[in-house]
Amino acid sequence: MNKIIDGKQFAQELNTNLKISINQLEGKRKPKLVILQVGDNPASNKYIKNKLNACAKVGIIGELKKFEEEISQKKLENEIIKIIDDNEVDGIIVQLPLPKHIEEQLIIDLIPAGKDADGFNPQTLGNVMLNNSKIFPATPYGILKLLEWKKIDLIGANVVIVGRSNIVGKPLANMLINKSATVTICNTKTKNLKDICKEADILISAAGVANLITKEFVNNNMTIIDVGANFVDGKYCGDVDFDNVLEEVKHITPVPGGVGPMTIACLLQNTFTLYKEKENL
Ligand code: NAP
Repeated sequence: MNKIIDGKQFAQELNTNLKISINQLEGKRKPKLVILQVGDNPASNKYIKNKLNACAKVGIIGELKKFEEEISQKKLENEIIKIIDDNEVDGIIVQLPLPKHIEEQLIIDLIPAGKDADGFNPQTLGNVMLNNSKIFPATPYGILKLLEWKKIDLIGANVVIVGRSNIVGKPLANMLINKSATVTICNTKTKNLKDICKEADILISAAGVANLITKEFVNNNMTIIDVGANFVDGKYCGDVDFDNVLEEVKHITPVPGGVGPMTIACLLQNTFTLYKEKENL
């Protein structure tokens, strides 16, 4: 049995189907996603390039609005309001991190739920919690889709999430609870992390710490989803000591090629959902 969950392959399948749906929008305008960037962070430049390429491949108009690093909070907010008011813009995402002088949450809160392609707006997150949303934060959305694609049973599953961020751990926990999983969320203060992880049917690591999850944290029936995106000696890797853990578990996502491509695919799914809502399709 192939243990590796190929997120790249599934993301390509989702993107192909999305491209077909967008091609069928004969005579209608195309969906449009705007990416907001402040400054010139090299990692952000790379992520943005990937997102714009993905937009182009499926037929979504992707546009980068780049502001200088020194822009004031007020000026940035005014510029964003202009973009929000543009009727042809369906989705807006804010490329994080923002410079230190900008209040990140205020900027995120500014993006209305109807254009919130990232799924980070408090209203969107509230609806996710209430199991009443069509938009989901892209990374948790991608993880759920991967688990469903691999037919990994969530009902009653013991899921352990390492990480409680607003963009991964917390919304993911809510989405899994809504699927009737039993969820434990861990953080840096958690006692006996290894013992808690070892009991999981599904272990999702979103800590951002390379080699945090070693073979002592896993069991033979476990599915591991590695969300981590770390650079060690110039090499991109996740949170899991992949080479040593692979033999010990049932399923595992690789880094690269696991959660990353699914995050982008789900961002595009969100954009298309927002477009359809706007166009009453
Ligand atoms: P974050 O905001 O830094 O949150 C990390 C979380 O992990 C925090 O809750 C932290 O606990 C917890 N944590 C860190 N070290 C830990 C440890 N040793 N034991 C237990 N808990 C620990 O990060 P994030 O934005 O959620 O992202 C997490 C990772 O996923 C990063 O590597 C990020 O680059 C990656 N990521 C990848 C994608 C993708 O598409 N591939 C998307 C999003 C994020 P405290 O709250 O106690 O500090």
